[in-house]
Amino acid sequence: MATDHSELGIAMSPAVPAPGSRRTCQPRPLFVDQTAELGGAELSLRDIARHYAATGKVVLFTTGPLVDAMAAVGVHAVHLNAPAAVLELRREAGLGASLAAVWGLGRLVLRLARLGTGYDLFYANTQKAFVASALAGLVARRPVIWHLRDILSPEHFSRSILKLVRHLVRLPHVHVIANSHATARALLALGGKGERLVTIHNGIDPRPWAPIDLATLARLRGELRLGDRPTIGVFGRLAEWKGQHILVEALDELEDVQALIVGEALFGEHAYRARLDTVIERSGHADRIHLAGFRADVPALMQLCDIVVHTSIAPEPFGRVIVEAMLAGRPVIAAAAGGAPEIVDDGRSGMLIPPGDPRALAAAIRRLLDEPRLALQLAEAGRQRALERFGLDAALARIDAYVAEVLAKGRA
Ligand code: UDP
Repeated sequence: MATDHSELGIAMSPAVPAPGSRRTCQPRPLFVDQTAELGGAELSLRDIARHYAATGKVVLFTTGPLVDAMAAVGVHAVHLNAPAAVLELRREAGLGASLAAVWGLGRLVLRLARLGTGYDLFYANTQKAFVASALAGLVARRPVIWHLRDILSPEHFSRSILKLVRHLVRLPHVHVIANSHATARALLALGGKGERLVTIHNGIDPRPWAPIDLATLARLRGELRLGDRPTIGVFGRLAEWKGQHILVEALDELEDVQALIVGEALFGEHAYRARLDTVIERSGHADRIHLAGFRADVPALMQLCDIVVHTSIAPEPFGRVIVEAMLAGRPVIAAAAGGAPEIVDDGRSGMLIPPGDPRALAAAIRRLLDEPRLALQLAEAGRQRALERFGLDAALARIDAYVAEVLAKGRA
């Protein structure tokens, strides 16, 4: 049984086990993810898989930079070369593509089921990985935990996928960890079962976010050719719904600042990358917009910024970058939808603005630049809140407790 219930009727994170009560016999999860790119979901998975490195294994549907990122922290990730029909299935797919995907999925499920018999449970990290794992769990007679990191809405997923997910999450061997109340609410609205659903906010390892020395920051500033103007940073993959263009538009009202855009198009969102280039060119502000591409040194880059903004125009399932900016000790302005308001307490640990509103963003940036004491207060309170509420160790302890609960239910 989960130990607590929120006002939503969703079971809350199980209690953190007391120090010293850690099990000596760690469970063996088989982690499953459909991509091998370095998206937020995959970076979160890396931290969880590292925690279970002695007993677990990571299976990816394809290969990519995540394999090396896992290896760098001692996690062995294998990839299954899943059929293209499964990997490339898009929400607008026709009948032919859907039938090919079903056939490919069947073969994938059997391979996963075979692998799964050597493990205690399937731990699915993405939506296609969940569909395959839920079915493989039936074949291999293993429970499944889906770490849900998406807001399941018709904006992002096709009707048929949502229908399928609704059926699968109702199966008794399926359990769900939602990464925010917002993602949990969307699953319940779809027909998910509250009693097998917990909310565990993402945890971020604070160690890389310790203050960076001034010489390193000066070197980076030179490398990126950042001028002396105040720097407003936005971090995350380039995608329409992440709304980097909102910051570009906000510059119309902010003549004295420069923007640092960090991230790259990861999941087939290259058309947006091209559109962003055009928006920047037409804005007339290209000389004060710096596109840094995908970077592995986000902690240092965030510390170069005077303010970090989050500009998503659709509800953000969680928003690791928001917590990271708070850990970096920067004042944060975030778009108030999805998980963001669960992270930022408006006016106390950061500022919230309506999504998709460049004028509101410009006004919030102007206020923080004009009121440095307020900016400092928000940054300090933000760092404190991030450390207290969104630490990696606490999140891992809650995941441990939930995995144990799921396995105990299976044995009962
Ligand atoms: N990130 C990174 N390099 C980049 C841009 C982003 O390592 O150039 C990381 C960022 O630090 C964060 C993650 O990508 O940990 C994005 O996670 P978030 O939850 O904000 O968004 P998601 O990708 O899951 O939608």
